[in-house]
Amino acid sequence: METIEVVEAGERIRMARFDQATSHPFGISVGNLIDRLATLPGIGRKSAERLANHLLACSESEANQLANAIRLVKSCVRPCSLCFNLAEQEFCDICRDTRRETQSVCVVEQPRDLLALEAAGIFHGLYHVLGGRISPLNGVGPDELTIDALVRRVRTKGVREILMATNPTLEGDGTALFISNLLANDKVKITRLARGIATGSVLEFANREMLADAIRGRQAFWLR
Ligand SMILES: [Zn+2]
Repeated sequence: METIEVVEAGERIRMARFDQATSHPFGISVGNLIDRLATLPGIGRKSAERLANHLLACSESEANQLANAIRLVKSCVRPCSLCFNLAEQEFCDICRDTRRETQSVCVVEQPRDLLALEAAGIFHGLYHVLGGRISPLNGVGPDELTIDALVRRVRTKGVREILMATNPTLEGDGTALFISNLLANDKVKITRLARGIATGSVLEFANREMLADAIRGRQAFWLR
């Protein structure tokens, strides 16, 4: 494979040239950068070209700071050993906070959902991040999520309440139902967020008041 020479941490290294990259009048490395940027969420081809032009115009140290920031989070940030929130240590800040109520666990799909609920400032328990939701059409089954770890946690860590805060979508509700079935014979109260949030929307974009109301008005998951 053809290689190109780049400088990293003051050393000249060789890396694979990008055979798959879209060709570009400035060269294939620019085409590759645009290809990579265009894979980011919310970034179309035009925005990717603008970002690439900015990176080409800025100083080498500025561009390296961005590259190093990306490398740093990829090497330092990992899932919390207890709740799977993102952390730079074995346990995340929330799990290490001794003021939190450890018997109450709020189940969310993604770390960004946890951030939205924390901003509401009304839930003082711990969290459990599933890492997604059950989605057969996208090939995501229960084994791809942290559901086993949640069940183990409920059975070994004295969890008394599970607050289901999966997104109010078909797949989010299905995931909550799947988990509640697994825990049907355990002595744990299962609640879910009240429906103050429009069905089909996502937690990430709900405002703080809406989320606070939803937590206050939570109700038993089994509606009999
Ligand atoms: Zn944690």
